[in-house]
Amino acid sequence: MPDYRERARRHLIPHFTQADAWRADDLVVIERGEGCYVWDAEGNKYLDALAGLFCTNIGHGRTDLTAAAAKQMDKLAFYPNWGFAHPSAIEAASMIAAVAPGDLDRVFFVSSGSEAVESAIKFARCHHLANGDEQRHKVIARHWAYHGTTLGALTLTGIPNLRDPYLPMLAGHVRHVSNTLGCQLEPGQAARELPCVADVEEAILAEGPETVAMMIAEPVQNGRGALVPPECYWQELRRICDRYGVLLCADEVINSFGRLGHWFGSERFGVVPDMITFAKGVTSAYQPLGGLLVRGPLVERVWDSPAGTFLHGSTFGGHPVATAVAVANMTALRDEDVPGNVLRNEVRLGDRLRALMQAHPCVKDVRGTGYFYALELMRDRRSGAELNAHERAELLPGGVLDRLVRDARVLVRPDGRGAVMLSVAPPLVADAAVIDDLVNRVDQVLDRLSGWLRTSERGLDNSTHREGDQ
Ligand code: PLP
Repeated sequence: MPDYRERARRHLIPHFTQADAWRADDLVVIERGEGCYVWDAEGNKYLDALAGLFCTNIGHGRTDLTAAAAKQMDKLAFYPNWGFAHPSAIEAASMIAAVAPGDLDRVFFVSSGSEAVESAIKFARCHHLANGDEQRHKVIARHWAYHGTTLGALTLTGIPNLRDPYLPMLAGHVRHVSNTLGCQLEPGQAARELPCVADVEEAILAEGPETVAMMIAEPVQNGRGALVPPECYWQELRRICDRYGVLLCADEVINSFGRLGHWFGSERFGVVPDMITFAKGVTSAYQPLGGLLVRGPLVERVWDSPAGTFLHGSTFGGHPVATAVAVANMTALRDEDVPGNVLRNEVRLGDRLRALMQAHPCVKDVRGTGYFYALELMRDRRSGAELNAHERAELLPGGVLDRLVRDARVLVRPDGRGAVMLSVAPPLVADAAVIDDLVNRVDQVLDRLSGWLRTSERGLDNSTHREGDQ
């Protein structure tokens, strides 16, 4: 391997990575990908069980997408989307509108998920100003939800350790409410009685409905581990938002473009939000692209107002190459029925992950749907013992779990936000054989984790005893 590691340490600042892990001798440098697998610079093959970062929905190594990028660069490498349009942005927006729920048929392109969330916050504000509702500027978001890291999006993010250092700079008015963890409908119970529903309405009333601009939520929330909402939850959010004139935004940066077996996660839960934010899977991350999808009448309202514009923009928003790649990606997803592949295989993935729970007492819960799962970990389900603080610190971040998943050559994501979890979200082209390979490798990770926990129980110093991992 060339001196990649040394130069990475000297010149490259990583995102959300502990310095110790970055400085370690075994830093993994991923060099190439094919289908659901990637290879590091030393030639080791890994199953990409997180699709990059919930991104490479169509899989790696697709020459049709690279050809679309090259063709667009040859023809028109760049022109902005302000004041002008260009064919690839028009085509991408039209294709998205054609598969979007209800009358969500207008697309504002940006370059990332965080920017999409920023755009939603600003659009909601502009919409209310157009209606003369000048007081509406507050946002309702949910605990442990991740909505991005630019300061506006971070204001909405409900993950304390990501927010705390920046609190003085998060001047936005946000109120965090319950997420749907553990919130299940009992027989005979009405959805509006659910605490996770009642909490939303109470928060709006407490803030003063005339001051609330929007509510944002993911159909299936990633933060705190693939939280699938109880039945009718989204219908309740729709009812509450309609009642108080609040715009409902579904953050589908992960949930869209087939992740839940549909173009948009909202479709799976039968709801038409006012806005949808997307990114990642729209190009399968072959190019950076995100966007805000908005109901047509809301856009017309803003355009017809005295402002006459949505006062927001960025140089690269709707970049011709990124949108040309989005067109190629959506064409491939459609022609190869990739969302259908998810629907055909999701039961296999879910059942086999749940079987791991039966086999391993260190698995507390398996949650998820589509190709989007989380395994929550504990010390021992039989005795009810949770991981202690020392174990949590050893496992994450950049600790024992990272090493175990790398050794098993399966890039699931160890996540320590709110609990110790493994996130599983393979490329959406994963077939039965890939799913079985994935589950076998996670099985190995859990075997070694159980060994590590036994050693930890005996009070040995796990960090220096690799043999204790067996
Ligand atoms: N919203 C959600 C639900 C996300 O999962 C993410 C990123 O993972 C974002 C927003 C921010 O996206 P980006 O990292 O592209 O800025």
